[in-house]
Amino acid sequence: AVKRPPSIEEARLLLPIVAEEQPIMEAILLNPVVIICGETGSGKTTQVPQFLYESGFGTPGSENPGMIGITQPRRVAAVSMAARVAHELSLTSSRVSHQIRYDATVSPSTSIKFMTDGVLLRELANDFLLVRYSVIIIDEAHERSMNTDILIGVLSRVVKLREEMWKERKDDVKPLRLIIMSATLRVSDFADNTTLFSSRPPVINVAARQHPVTIHFSRRTSPNYVNEAVRKATKIHTRLPPGGLLIFLTGQNEIIGACRKLEAKFGKKALDLKKKNRSRPSQQGADVEPEDLDLGNFDQDGLAFDVDENMDQEDLEALDSDDEQNLDEELGLGEDSDVPMHIVPLYSLLSSEKQMRVFEPPPPGCRLVVVSTNVAETSLTIPGIRYVVDCGRAKERRYDIANGIQAFQISWVSKASAAQRAGRAGRTGPGHCYRLYSSALFEHHFEEFSTPEIQRMPIEGVVLQMKSMHIDAVVNFPFPTSPDKIAMRKAEKTLTHLGALTFATPDVKNALSSVGQITDLGRTMALFPVSPRFSRMLVSGQQHDCLPYIISIVSAMSVGDPFLYEEVLGQDGSDVENDAESSLVNLRSDSVKAKDARNLKRKAFFQSQHMHSSLGSYSSDVFKVLSVVGGYEYAGGGQKFCSENFVRPKAMEEIHKLRAQISNIVQTNFPGVDAKFAPKLPPPNEGQLKVLKQLLAAGFIDQVAVRKIRIEGADGVQVSTSKGVPYKAMGISEDAFIHPSSVLANVPPPDYVIFSEVIRTSRIFLKGVTVVNPS
Ligand code: ADP
Ligand code: MG
Repeated sequence: AVKRPPSIEEARLLLPIVAEEQPIMEAILLNPVVIICGETGSGKTTQVPQFLYESGFGTPGSENPGMIGITQPRRVAAVSMAARVAHELSLTSSRVSHQIRYDATVSPSTSIKFMTDGVLLRELANDFLLVRYSVIIIDEAHERSMNTDILIGVLSRVVKLREEMWKERKDDVKPLRLIIMSATLRVSDFADNTTLFSSRPPVINVAARQHPVTIHFSRRTSPNYVNEAVRKATKIHTRLPPGGLLIFLTGQNEIIGACRKLEAKFGKKALDLKKKNRSRPSQQGADVEPEDLDLGNFDQDGLAFDVDENMDQEDLEALDSDDEQNLDEELGLGEDSDVPMHIVPLYSLLSSEKQMRVFEPPPPGCRLVVVSTNVAETSLTIPGIRYVVDCGRAKERRYDIANGIQAFQISWVSKASAAQRAGRAGRTGPGHCYRLYSSALFEHHFEEFSTPEIQRMPIEGVVLQMKSMHIDAVVNFPFPTSPDKIAMRKAEKTLTHLGALTFATPDVKNALSSVGQITDLGRTMALFPVSPRFSRMLVSGQQHDCLPYIISIVSAMSVGDPFLYEEVLGQDGSDVENDAESSLVNLRSDSVKAKDARNLKRKAFFQSQHMHSSLGSYSSDVFKVLSVVGGYEYAGGGQKFCSENFVRPKAMEEIHKLRAQISNIVQTNFPGVDAKFAPKLPPPNEGQLKVLKQLLAAGFIDQVAVRKIRIEGADGVQVSTSKGVPYKAMGISEDAFIHPSSVLANVPPPDYVIFSEVIRTSRIFLKGVTVVNPS
């Protein structure tokens, strides 16, 4: 029997999905595939696994003894939802577990397992029938993450296979059930896709208990949306009744910046300070109702007016809304409040403990203010939000299929996303959403839905995964949305280069039907939770005495560059504070002191960069990271080492965990290879560095760049740094440059380099660069 804490039992009854338990369970028991749609916060993620558990799924000896598996596109969600469901059911984390790339609480007694979609995809390579599961829930299907899309395609086949085997009474196999859950109603890509599901699966819509949310558009669209968000938050806080505020921005730096500004205005410390310095009483602002005041939409007479939906000709250029501020001053509207803000940032690079702070109630008498990326759009429902400020943008990694150039681009979200964001304000009562863009812009420039990830990312990793599951003709795969044909061809080519696929016999008429088969090498590569290029390096790494180093390099490159360059080399010359909690108030005291501190910090930064760049004598960014990984382990990890060496603690921890995990995979799959994980890594010697460089060159054989110009001019003077020196990179027509953060930026430009990433910002930059000698 299920035992829930009384307070949970009470709160559950308020969730719309709980009223639908019976029809949902009926549909699941009668159909192999069911689609459940329900607004964010209706209880899908936390409750559906519990419905299944209560009716015996995941319980040994029952009709459906196999585990209940739930996939999430985001790690934060997998971890926090497992903890939440364990708490609701009063079960341990070994019964309700999570598994993400770096971390797992699963045990033989696990009944409910939350995991990232990537984890399940790799499990399929080892066990295509998923025999340990009785039901798989694919959550957040609307996000259309690449792995989720692939999973839905693969699982549609697995469900069929398990059903056939069960009918033929083979091996005691029971049917597998598949549940697809989505927060938006656009499920036709799944439901009406007959190659995916030959008969249409039932779609259950959970009636939303959503309170009305009033949408307020801005009259103009300001490009400086971070300031605009702070300004809007200030107005909401000083003038509107209590209620949580959720601000959507696009990334870490913006979020930290906004948090600092708000902290300086309304943080507890700032208010205490103000109170001390002030004798006159403040104006309390919470006496206006939102309906009376359309924030920020004042016409020239200072009267509130509604946005004219048919307003013509948007002037996107004349954007600054300073006029608004002047107007406020004329109107004598103060920006004071005695209510402190409890400000919580939320973004993926934040440590898990800090991410969980959004679920804690704010201290009494404070207003909760969450400043978040789109994590808070559908994955996490933050309680008590009444106001939403939406910048309307999101940062997305864009990838140019033709030449591999990546760019982190900030672009408009879809209308569906904007609706989700607004909806966050209506969970507990009527709410308000302030959009920092005009209605005309929204109507004309926002797409209805966002593009599925599979159409904008490189796919060699998934192609290899699919081949290892014996899906040879990837082109015939039942994708919910098919990837680009060029991307597919490119993926096969890269995999062939790496030796993971056999050479395909060229067939000019139908290039796609002539696909290569997976090789033994490819099958081995598919075992590792890293991209094929990296797994190739791991496989070759065994032949030398360098395996622990290669494992560390691959782990570090998979996690991403851990160095915090922005801290010191901030684009606008400003230092970005590592910790959003430290408030401006502390820094304001003495600007001279602050400047000294900044200089000291810069010095410390360059010293530590110098030290780590010395491994391999300034020849490789990869070795620089290897150096810091070694140092970190010798120091026994810790915050102190991280701040002294300007690295992100979370990244260092993930590198550590990934090293352990990869070592394990090697140990279990390669008999005779000693890969026992020993965290402490002595620095590699000269000979080992040479081998490592060769392995890197082999892994990046198709990512080579050659310096375009002679560096010894007619006068015999040699260029002393790589700054501004153009390179010709394979497959890229434009000039490419070595990134300023590279160790090679400060030494004479080498003739040949390999690179791990190419990124477009103001120019095309090569990152993760290593000097190679042409052979
Ligand atoms: P959905 O998946 O439909 O978006 P969820 O199952 O995630 O909905 O959320 C249901 C409810 O549970 C929400 O009201 C949410 O605030 C609450 N909830 C989820 N996780 C936590 C948590 N860790 N602490 C407190 N409340 C939570
Ligand atoms: Mg959910």
